Amino acid sequence: MIVVMRVGATDQQINAVMERIRAAGLKEHLSHGVERTIIGVLGQIYPELKDTLEVLPGVDEVIRVSKPYKLSSREFHPEDTRVKVGGVTIGGEDVVVIAGPCAVESEKQLFETAHAVRAAGATVLRGGAFKPSTSPYSFRGLGERGLELLAQMKAETGLPVITEVMTVADVDLVARYADILQIGARNMQNFFLLEEAGKAGKPVMLKRGLSATIEEWLLAAEYILAQGNKELILCERGIRTFESYTRNTMDISAIPVIEKVSHLPIIADPSHGTGKWHLVTPMALAAVAAGADGIMVEVHPNPDSALKDGAQSLNFDNFRKLMKLLAPVAAAVGRRLVSP
Ligand code: PEP
Ligand code: MN
Repeated sequence: MIVVMRVGATDQQINAVMERIRAAGLKEHLSHGVERTIIGVLGQIYPELKDTLEVLPGVDEVIRVSKPYKLSSREFHPEDTRVKVGGVTIGGEDVVVIAGPCAVESEKQLFETAHAVRAAGATVLRGGAFKPSTSPYSFRGLGERGLELLAQMKAETGLPVITEVMTVADVDLVARYADILQIGARNMQNFFLLEEAGKAGKPVMLKRGLSATIEEWLLAAEYILAQGNKELILCERGIRTFESYTRNTMDISAIPVIEKVSHLPIIADPSHGTGKWHLVTPMALAAVAAGADGIMVEVHPNPDSALKDGAQSLNFDNFRKLMKLLAPVAAAVGRRLVSP
């Protein structure tokens, strides 16, 4: 961190800044330029220090030089993280497809979907048993029955399963059934949940918050990594913008940004990213072309009658078409679409 003093800052002001730096347990490095004095701050810097120093008399600006997130940062961990789930590796050369319904609705619905997505080449089955819902009057999931159905389909198809955990109290229960714990967008900054999920001994997929910056998202990831859980996957699922045609704005650029600044695998969710089924395939292809380690797509036997997110769900036919288009796009960027 560098503190740039105003032109004409007094010695007294410069000394006050240095004292404040020392009081925070850090060291300073003073450099007098022709016009201005610059003070380097050395040591383990905490994020609030920037604001604290910036308001001191005589300070012009405070510039951060290193990232506030550490454990998720590529600076501190140059190699890609690879998360192994069943026979699948997320991160690395492979492109992985996670597919399934938004919500587990019934045995029949999950059975049909699991078999259809597996036959088309998906390698992980998704399905919500505990559903976050903007309206309390919407379907909120089958709860533990949904988890049992996911476990049953896993046994039948061999596909590992990912499902969302919404509360600290449910972490143990969900971890008993799930191969990957999903933290939803609305819970990205539920810091107690992040810590508890980090302790569950299962891989975690952290979705980007609805209005979260990339930095906030990576700081949320720190909470999970700080528990000693290295098996963390990020998921870009669109962010809220002024655009109203789509449900969210799919931030494709977040994918290469994450690849540059973090070692964590990145999955793209074009279903929530757009909210419209006809935009799912183009955004899935774009995400893989941009370097995503995989995609997560909502698929339903009959989207028109889905209890949740039908408008953004692919039917089996459209999912098969997506899978056919995905393989050459993955190959074009030097990746391989894995099959079950
Ligand atoms: C989901 O994956 O079904 C979901 C609720 O996603 P998000 O948290 O991104 O809205
Ligand atoms: Mn959904």
